[in-house]
Amino acid sequence: MPRPFQRDFHVFGEGVYIRVIFVVLNSAVNRLKVYVFMKKKTKRILIITAVSVAVIAAVAGTVLGIMFCGGGHQHFMRTVRARAATCTEDGNSAYYHCEDCGKYFADMLGESEISPEDAVIPATGHDMEYVQAREPSCTQAGEEAHWQCLNCGKAFADEGASEEIASEGLVIPAEGHDMDDGTETVAAQCGVPGEMTYSCLTCGYTETSTLPALEHVFDRAASDGAYHWTECSLCGAERENSRGMHDFVLNGAAEECACGAHIAYAEGLQYAYADGGYAVTGAGDFEGGFLFIPPEYDDGEHGVRPVTAVADEAFMNRPDIVIVRLPDSVAQVGDRAFFMCAGAAFVTFGAGVEDIGDAAFYGCSLADIALPAALAHIGEQAFGECPLVSAAFARPDGWTDGFGAPANFGDAAAAAALLSDADGPAFDRA
Ligand SMILES: [Zn+2]
Ligand SMILES: [Zn+2]
Ligand SMILES: [Zn+2]
Ligand SMILES: [Zn+2]
Ligand SMILES: [Zn+2]
Repeated sequence: MPRPFQRDFHVFGEGVYIRVIFVVLNSAVNRLKVYVFMKKKTKRILIITAVSVAVIAAVAGTVLGIMFCGGGHQHFMRTVRARAATCTEDGNSAYYHCEDCGKYFADMLGESEISPEDAVIPATGHDMEYVQAREPSCTQAGEEAHWQCLNCGKAFADEGASEEIASEGLVIPAEGHDMDDGTETVAAQCGVPGEMTYSCLTCGYTETSTLPALEHVFDRAASDGAYHWTECSLCGAERENSRGMHDFVLNGAAEECACGAHIAYAEGLQYAYADGGYAVTGAGDFEGGFLFIPPEYDDGEHGVRPVTAVADEAFMNRPDIVIVRLPDSVAQVGDRAFFMCAGAAFVTFGAGVEDIGDAAFYGCSLADIALPAALAHIGEQAFGECPLVSAAFARPDGWTDGFGAPANFGDAAAAAALLSDADGPAFDRA
């Protein structure tokens, strides 16, 4: 402890006064030792001098001591600083202590003496509050129930503060997510990735992961009325270059393609009975697309009879017809029977076709035709305005045009040019 500045008041205190006397007496003794070796007269003078100095010093010290110290005690003060009380330890107000006399004072000048107990500020004690437990979540830590002092902030296991708990001891660790096995929220498709979603069973937090895209599996045969192809059994996509037209052949009683498809004859057509057979006279309820004319019909009156003809203008102006197939039983195709069926790109003539009427296929989209051996008459402009590329005749010989000139149908391309002439004549075969 450094000495306080009050020390200055004690320069002329009792202690110094006595010390001055001691110094003077000591000096006198030393003088006596020198004196032993001196002459008598000199000795006498020195003795008188020494005694005089000692007397003068004693008188002066006493006078000075009384003058400056009033003859009393001057305190040698030490400040005891103020200290605040805590929850558990006493504090004190500032006071002063003289180390020389051992007394305590409330003031620096030593006018108000106290006992040290008077300066004590007692410990405040904890101000406890109960803190409820906080449950941990998946991601956040919880906290144990405890008592906490509002003053010092310390945590305790009990209200009596007998057991302090360090802050780490209060922590209840976060539990972490409890993820489920996942749900396929977006199914993977051919070429398109899917998504799995995983959810926390506790809090509902979700995470996703990507499911790899699928590859096509081209292992399924598919067909419609006219075509067969291969498709993906997962998504139904058609395999490139797998499409082909059915090749219907008679298999027992039914016409069937090697792909397994049976021919689907057009339904709802209109018929008329004549001469032991039926002629198709109109489209009736036909909905367009593939016009496969059946080989036989039963009108409920004349019984099952072959379909032998397509009547004049039966399907005129039906651009929704795509494919025409005439069974072997049909011998005659009437005038303008398929006139301006602009969507008709394919026609199959049955083996029995003998007569194709005027403008029967005028304005259709036919490019390639194959004409049967039985054919003997082709009407005027029967294929006029068709984009014919080839016309293959089973019997190309013996044809003449309507003026009696021979017509050469031996070359399919040349025959196509002749037949598609918009102003072409009729042709007959002897
Ligand atoms: Zn004192
Ligand atoms: Zn406290
Ligand atoms: Zn969770
Ligand atoms: Zn696919
Ligand atoms: Zn097929």
